[in-house]
Amino acid sequence: MATVRLENLRKEFDAGDIVAVDDISLTVEDGEFLAVVGPSGCGKSTTLRMIAGLERATDGRVYIGDEDVTDLSARKRDVAMVFQNYALYPHKTVFENMEFGLRMSTDLDGAERREKVEWAAEMMDIPELLDDNPDELSGGQKQRVALGRAIVREPDVFLFDEPLSNLDAKLRVEMRTEIQRLQDELDITAVYVTHDQEEAMTMGDRMAILKDGVLQQVGPPKEVYRHPDNAFVGGFVGSPSMNFIDATTNHVEDGITLTDPNGPFRARLTSPLAETLTPEGDYTVGIRPEDVFIDRGEFEATVEVVEPVGSDNYVHLDVADSFLARVTADVEPAVGDTVPVRFDESALRVFDAEGEAVVAPERVVA
Ligand code: ATP
Repeated sequence: MATVRLENLRKEFDAGDIVAVDDISLTVEDGEFLAVVGPSGCGKSTTLRMIAGLERATDGRVYIGDEDVTDLSARKRDVAMVFQNYALYPHKTVFENMEFGLRMSTDLDGAERREKVEWAAEMMDIPELLDDNPDELSGGQKQRVALGRAIVREPDVFLFDEPLSNLDAKLRVEMRTEIQRLQDELDITAVYVTHDQEEAMTMGDRMAILKDGVLQQVGPPKEVYRHPDNAFVGGFVGSPSMNFIDATTNHVEDGITLTDPNGPFRARLTSPLAETLTPEGDYTVGIRPEDVFIDRGEFEATVEVVEPVGSDNYVHLDVADSFLARVTADVEPAVGDTVPVRFDESALRVFDAEGEAVVAPERVVA
């Protein structure tokens, strides 16, 4: 296994009209599972394809272990890639599909290749499928074959490009667990691209969030969830999404308040960090729905919609354009009710007015 290091990686298309990847630097540690996530078109696949050698970088370097592989072809890189569409040869059997890479890239003899394929088939729980053709298989089975084909070569690095997107929800969850088990057993260094933030949260040792080709934040999922560096990350990671309120600071006798001039939101800051905020400054305040309580509080809001989702109720309030409290199912206000609103002090994130950077990390409130 090996580290993967990206140094100021850049990719332009159409003579520079499109910047798909913009100056990305990061290191995937040996044996680490890095989930790369972001909305459609943010440059995830292009980044992965540059690591694989399927796309040539416009600028910057790619290292696998200590080796600079930037100018090496895909064949010469010790990586295996698993795609969304499985990319199996339709006229080869499962065995032949899994064996093909070994045939091309090693000088193992037939018996040795068979042994490896059988080992990988066992790992993927598909030994009984080895003589089948891909068109006889379900989507989940095809993806097991594709994974088996990747592990059979025991490469340094595994690259996954949305491998579970074609599967139904139940199978997706099952295969997530399967891939995590594989990673655990084989101690894989893996880069896993997905647009699904929940998949990234549950699978990644760390997650990297991209937007418009630019790396926004890299960190363990919990850390990113609790401490997003900007409002985009706060809004993208987590479901239901983080609430955002435009607010202005006012100095009061015993501290600072953040108030929304256009709505009922009011938060009194008691931490010394509040002092870092500019008086009469404009900010974007972020708060997770589960950190909003409607039992008592400093201001009142009107209930607009109540969405029961089983264990919880999502209570939409007229605090900002879109603002919801995630409360337990036994808290059931009626539409039109006026409820008091309260936050955990430590749960507030205060960003600059544009939401581009967090300004008060360990925030506060009444
Ligand atoms: P998705 O989740 O939709 O696959 P993505 O995050 O993987 O998106 P990329 O496929 O890496 O994004 O694309 C990033 C940007 O580069 C997009 O604007 C895309 O249209 C553009 N792009 C990608 N490949 C090419 C290409 N071969 N020629 C021109 N533009 C391209």
